[in-house]
Amino acid sequence: MATERTLSIIKPDATKRNLTGKINAKFEDAGLRIVAQKRIHLTPAQAGKFYEVHAERPFYGELCEFMASGPVVVQVLEGEGAIAKNREVMGATDPSKADAGTVRAEFATSMGENSVHGSDAPETAAEEIAYFFSGLELVG
Ligand code: ADP
Ligand code: MG
Repeated sequence: MATERTLSIIKPDATKRNLTGKINAKFEDAGLRIVAQKRIHLTPAQAGKFYEVHAERPFYGELCEFMASGPVVVQVLEGEGAIAKNREVMGATDPSKADAGTVRAEFATSMGENSVHGSDAPETAAEEIAYFFSGLELVG
């Protein structure tokens, strides 16, 4: 398994409840290294561009509004098979279906407000990292 990088976002429901450190501990305990990180407040337009792939889904408007409702922490996680490993640590999109011990099982409050985002494939990871970070900001 090769070393990979993936884009992670700690969403507004989690930053609001002061959970950044607890979530980061789960990533680090799983062997993922945080090689870039910043706290930002997205505009609805910036959130909309990030989630453009979901533009036709019924929850798109609500999702963009939520992602712009408070600060987020955007970060790049690095490690062996980091994309799949991060998805494991996150748990299922629907927190009621997420495995025990995952971020979403412990912290998510609903399907929409589910505490974290993680890239789903190498191509999307590369695009999503470039959306938020320049090469100079990735310090492995
Ligand atoms: P994931 O974040 O697990 O990759 P998706 O890419 O399918 O999930 O969806 C992106 C985000 O959109 C989810 O994390 C969640 O915040 C929101 N979302 C997905 N499905 C729903 C839904 N049925 N109702 C409300 N929000 C949803
Ligand atoms: Mg997704």
